[in-house]
Amino acid sequence: MIRVKKIITGFFILLLYQQCSLVGIHTHVQNPKKPGTYPKQTRAQMLLARQTPRRTCYDVNYYRLNLQLGFKKKFISGEVLIRSVLRNREDTIQLDLYKNLQINALRCNNELVPYRRDEGAVFVKLPGNITTGETFSIVVYYEGTVTQARRPPWNGGITWKKAGRSGVWAGVSCESEGAGIWWPNKDDVADEADSVDLLFTLPDKPTLNVVSNGVLKQTAQNPDNTKTLSWHVSYPINNYNLTFYLGDYQLITDTFVSSQNKTQIPLSYYVLPKHSSIAKNHFQQVKQQLTFYERVFGDYPWPRDGYKLVESPFEGMEHQTAIAYGSKFKNSVFGLDYIILHETAHEWWGNSVTAADLSDVWLQEGFATYAEALYIEATQGQQAYLTYMYWQRLSIKNKRPVVRPRGIRYFSTQDEDVYNKGSWVLHSLRNTIKNDSVFFDILKTFRKENHLKQIFSENFIELVNKKTGRDYDWFFRQYLYRREAPMLEYYWVGEYFYYKWKDTGVDFNKLPVELDFGSGRKTVYPDVFLQKLKVDDPTATGMYFPGDATYFGFVKNPHLVDE
Ligand SMILES: [Zn+2]
Repeated sequence: MIRVKKIITGFFILLLYQQCSLVGIHTHVQNPKKPGTYPKQTRAQMLLARQTPRRTCYDVNYYRLNLQLGFKKKFISGEVLIRSVLRNREDTIQLDLYKNLQINALRCNNELVPYRRDEGAVFVKLPGNITTGETFSIVVYYEGTVTQARRPPWNGGITWKKAGRSGVWAGVSCESEGAGIWWPNKDDVADEADSVDLLFTLPDKPTLNVVSNGVLKQTAQNPDNTKTLSWHVSYPINNYNLTFYLGDYQLITDTFVSSQNKTQIPLSYYVLPKHSSIAKNHFQQVKQQLTFYERVFGDYPWPRDGYKLVESPFEGMEHQTAIAYGSKFKNSVFGLDYIILHETAHEWWGNSVTAADLSDVWLQEGFATYAEALYIEATQGQQAYLTYMYWQRLSIKNKRPVVRPRGIRYFSTQDEDVYNKGSWVLHSLRNTIKNDSVFFDILKTFRKENHLKQIFSENFIELVNKKTGRDYDWFFRQYLYRREAPMLEYYWVGEYFYYKWKDTGVDFNKLPVELDFGSGRKTVYPDVFLQKLKVDDPTATGMYFPGDATYFGFVKNPHLVDE
């Protein structure tokens, strides 16, 4: 998902960056005294977020959505087939479907079976003859008006607008809400189906089209003045990434040749007809971005299913192989389209490698946000990279740790630290390791080893320790699991510079901190107890904070030496 828009303009940021390399402004961090809270969980949220035996007892390997769309505003009807393997015998399993959608019938292995609904959970009684290790199929017949998205993609649901000759332009986004907002599924981010078919039947209006994930396999005209489009996803996919776009679309095609293995990857851009010429030109940047991401993160994850940008009635979302694009074909002050850059990075971070719980969503958002900065560095140089990082740093709030509690499915748009602080965790790690070949090898290996997997932050920490041959637990304890930014308290007495850490763990004394006293940089290892440094240069009156540093703040404390 994308960050909420900032009012600060790029020009202002550039100006600020050039003027404020002095301590106090440049290094300002917010460290609120009161920690941020998490919303009180409703029964519906608890049912959606928690891992229980009724969910872990089965593993979904296939979904087939066969839905009717576009006949009535926001109304969906149809059937969803869910094929799974039973891992442990439970009499009842849990599915998820928002309670405003009506279930007309539910079958398991072709038998009608009883079910009970409780908020967004659907508890299905399994027939007694299904045994452990066996594959079974459930079909849910349902219909209803899908919840309207209040502020897509951040507050998701269905977006339904009037546009074009067919009079409709619609789409869904549901990362925070869960896919149960529009179709019945096992809504657990740790369980992805291996493949999915999506069939949409719509009124047979000549201009009306439906675009979804994967590849369009077939368009069939039906005798009753309807048509059915069948899309197929041939890779594992998160449920919240499954989507559709309904509207008058014009297709622009192109090809990307993967630099790694020379595979030809189809590029498909579905846009409103009035935007076809501007889109053709604007989307030229895609190939350069894909080339860069392949170079640093490895092969494009979905060569069979291709890469698509689909003009959406909301700003953007990383729907696998069918990225929602609603950013009006404009580049930022950095000369590129941030939505394309960010959402494309999610094909690696989020879609290929997925956080097993939203608690660890920084593995998706922090990595995608840092990927943007890496692209800026590669195409515009180090100063532009540091400016970009500085812009991200301004938004860090430090109200909650980057890794959130598990099992609560918390992902708030008000709280962007999973994006910006997540990105700064990687920037800081790079500056602490101080060896770019090791650092980039970590990123590439992390992606390669976890392609198509659902993982936690611990998997990343383990790899960092293995690749560096050192223990970086102290680093991640501070930056991922502790909410406060490390603060360097300092004071000058004569020619001595006194310093110590505040808001860190006792083991945070391994972080090299470079200080620039105007007469050259010095590396120190601050501790939670007071240390002093004699500054030889008598003209040194201030201290500068190098831009290529790790994440921490400074605070001048006149009482430091008396304590
Ligand atoms: Zn994102």
